Amino acid sequence: MPSIQSIQDIRDRLRALGALPRHEHRVLRLWSQALPQATTKRPIEDFLPKTLREALPALEAELDALARVQSEHPAEDGSKRLLVELGDGQTVESVLLPRDGLCVSSQVGCAVGCQFCMTGRYGLLRQVTSAEIVAQVVLGRRQRPVKKVVFMGMGEPAHNLEHVMEAIELLGTAGNIGHKSLVFSTVGDPRVFERLPQGPVKPALALSLHTSKAALREQLLPRAPRLTPEEIVAEGERYARLSGYPIQYQWTLIEGVNDGEDELDGIVRLLKGRYGVLNMIPYNSVPELPFKRPAWERAAEIARQLHRRGVLTKLRNSAGQEVDGGCGQLRARTLDGSVA
Ligand code: SF4
Repeated sequence: MPSIQSIQDIRDRLRALGALPRHEHRVLRLWSQALPQATTKRPIEDFLPKTLREALPALEAELDALARVQSEHPAEDGSKRLLVELGDGQTVESVLLPRDGLCVSSQVGCAVGCQFCMTGRYGLLRQVTSAEIVAQVVLGRRQRPVKKVVFMGMGEPAHNLEHVMEAIELLGTAGNIGHKSLVFSTVGDPRVFERLPQGPVKPALALSLHTSKAALREQLLPRAPRLTPEEIVAEGERYARLSGYPIQYQWTLIEGVNDGEDELDGIVRLLKGRYGVLNMIPYNSVPELPFKRPAWERAAEIARQLHRRGVLTKLRNSAGQEVDGGCGQLRARTLDGSVA
């Protein structure tokens, strides 16, 4: 039997074993919600045909082999960073967030090459499959309830669109996560704006802006699609109106790079009156990269100014920053041997 890559592979396997759609839903529900069989009202034996029951332990073992927690790194803010080993030994990061959230990775590495990101330094090594994305949620749910899943870990979800959407569609149905609580995060890719409105599960959308200046954006995000900040916001606004959820505009605040008065004017020009919120996250400095974190007071002042000027702004810390928070840092440290 071929090994499992996608959720469709699991469905095909179940169908080959004689599963009807309701059996398929049941097995996927138990898996994606990490439900022990004992918690369900009736024993699984009552529901599944004999061939399927007999094949189930082997299938469960294969699903378990998709991903395992290699190490855990709790932080004082209540988040916990997990280094997750995939079946072929590659590693990605997932982060259990305060208030029942989980941040998952959609790629091993990333091709966008953002200058301030550790993941971007290594390029793209491989895609994370839809089954491996859900497996990260299963690992998270074995530790805590997970009611929100954000695709903000390693990778650009737009570059792995079909697997990410397959995972989102499972999590938003059998996985029992509200559609608004599934957050697709992207640097802004035309394929996303076409694909997201078509799916049966429409996730919330986070768009990484980082600057209001097209030329600076090209430098900071060298291999992001060449959409201007204005075009990204226009597409975001369309999706926000269609889905009914506000867009989360992401802004990694870097001292001396995108924290000047000109950028504040740019943000107001772009976002005032839009159906969205600006999440401002002070950069988390790392020794390997030349960028600096601004003082918290300066960041708070910027957020206050933007509020006053009519842009709903939330100032946030990236979760778990004292344990190498910021995507890709933990993996990078583990590879160079500085984190056990
Ligand atoms: Fe890729 Fe995100 Fe890192 Fe940019 S910030 S390189 S999109 S993982």
